[in-house]
Amino acid sequence: MSGNTSRESAQPSYAERREQAISRDAERPALDEPLPPTAADLRQYRQANEQLIRASRARSKELEQSRWALPVDAYRLTGRFGQSSSLWSTVHTGLDFAAPTGQPIRSITKGTVTEAGPAGAYGSRTIVRAEDGTEFWYCHQNEISVSAGDKVGAGQVIGTVGSTGNVTGPHLHLEIRPGGKDPVDPETALREQGLAP
Ligand SMILES: [Zn+2]
Repeated sequence: MSGNTSRESAQPSYAERREQAISRDAERPALDEPLPPTAADLRQYRQANEQLIRASRARSKELEQSRWALPVDAYRLTGRFGQSSSLWSTVHTGLDFAAPTGQPIRSITKGTVTEAGPAGAYGSRTIVRAEDGTEFWYCHQNEISVSAGDKVGAGQVIGTVGSTGNVTGPHLHLEIRPGGKDPVDPETALREQGLAP
């Protein structure tokens, strides 16, 4: 038994071994031992996921709003840009969408209404200015359903087709004026945005 006793005395005591075990645990990196997620972890994952979904939805909405929409749902093009007629003092400065009186007119782009009211030969006219400064003129309207200062989205109804001003029948006369200056061909502009008028 004496041999046993001497061997045992050379070994660390229980208290010493316990101390060493605890300090080893404390030193061990947390990643060594995968722990099941806590309720707080799960809450954090869920919040991060929701944030990602919200950001993605906001971006889709942004893209949706930057897309152009056709101004009238059902129509027939009757007057092209650059045509001449006894009706116009110069060449035709827009594109004519013939449609029955009362058919909704939609804003082609997201923008701000800068004018909404009577405009001589143009009849009842709404001007929407897009963020890049391009003006969209919607003329000969029967009714106008927006006011100057209103923000509109692409595809939003801004009024109805009519025959106010200098016209022979109900239609939307559309003008597109980059920077509010000289008009460009709306048909080309719409085609460039993937819309075939
Ligand atoms: Zn016209």
